Amino acid sequence: MRLSRCPLDHPSTHLPIHPLIFPDISFLQTTLLDWYASSGRVLPWRETRDPYAIWVSEIMLQQTQVKTVIPYYERWLEAFPTIATLATADQQQVLKVWQGLGYYARARNLHKAAQVILEQHQGEFPRDLETVLTLPGIGRTTAGGILSAAFNQPVPILDGNVKRVLARLTALQKPPSKALPQLWQWSTQILDVERPRDFNQALMDLGATLCTPKNPACLVCPWRSHCQAHQLHLQQEIPMTESRAEIPHKMIGVAVIWGNEGQILIDRRRQEGLLGGLWEFPGGKIEPGETVEACIIREIREELGIEVEVGDRLITIDHAYTHFRVTLNVHHCRHLSGDPQPIECDEVRWVNLEDLEQYPFPKANVQIIDALRVGSRE
Ligand code: SF4
Repeated sequence: MRLSRCPLDHPSTHLPIHPLIFPDISFLQTTLLDWYASSGRVLPWRETRDPYAIWVSEIMLQQTQVKTVIPYYERWLEAFPTIATLATADQQQVLKVWQGLGYYARARNLHKAAQVILEQHQGEFPRDLETVLTLPGIGRTTAGGILSAAFNQPVPILDGNVKRVLARLTALQKPPSKALPQLWQWSTQILDVERPRDFNQALMDLGATLCTPKNPACLVCPWRSHCQAHQLHLQQEIPMTESRAEIPHKMIGVAVIWGNEGQILIDRRRQEGLLGGLWEFPGGKIEPGETVEACIIREIREELGIEVEVGDRLITIDHAYTHFRVTLNVHHCRHLSGDPQPIECDEVRWVNLEDLEQYPFPKANVQIIDALRVGSRE
């Protein structure tokens, strides 16, 4: 039997190795790699050993499905083919290329990390785990994904797919979020240190294509004879979930403010927090007992220091973020008085309707632009 050694030299990643929990690691490694050779997915970032391209793919794949990522990945590498081109790009250009992919902190961190690599590492992506973990936006599993895929280093991973596979393989009796040290230990133990690149990719593919959240395809799974959840008929119940609090729902009043010469007022969100650095139509949360119109007048006064008259409704948009939902109640407004000030944002700007698409906007705001375009054609 071939045993995996702990490949990590980062102090915080050292774990005591418990006696093997898997009956036959060698069997698991061999069967998984054989299955991967015949059934692994063909993905553009598997065609390269460039750590920058692999890093971009790893960041995009956080919270986003492969089929959505592929066109963004290709457009991104066309726009920023190297770490240096990304590092020296303007943040607005970076956010524009990312627009629509969501979780914009990922794009801001890629940009910042590229600047760190250019300034501190001569533009070369670092090869040691400890240094990689200091880069903005790179956690342990992303670092493992990059170092194993780019340099074939024996560094484990633990993304959502891998957590689910390992939880089922071992019939884990608690939610993965309550067993992270244990799961990291298993991912380390099971890693094939002679073929870490293929092994980590295979493990992700197993979770993405066979060991799916619903209705896993156990009958064709290379691990079915050793999978404890399958043997106990618990694959639908595992991984166990935590009871979730109800997702809050926020009602938002949003203003499309028209100036005297037909321009529209937009503002750039503060860098910190959700959607930082993106442009938006101004507005804010409707307080209990407040009408949409009253909310818009108050928010615009507080945010921009101007007075507006609220007109017809343009569109109502429902949008879900990870931890809350919003309903945007969007109204046309007319600028009455005052010079717009960036009181609760980084910048304000009057723009023409046809120029809006040059600015990076969150997805829900893009629907507002579409509604404005349709209205202007009618
Ligand atoms: S046998 Fe089923 S539950 Fe177990 S790892 Fe394979 S697909 Fe997942």
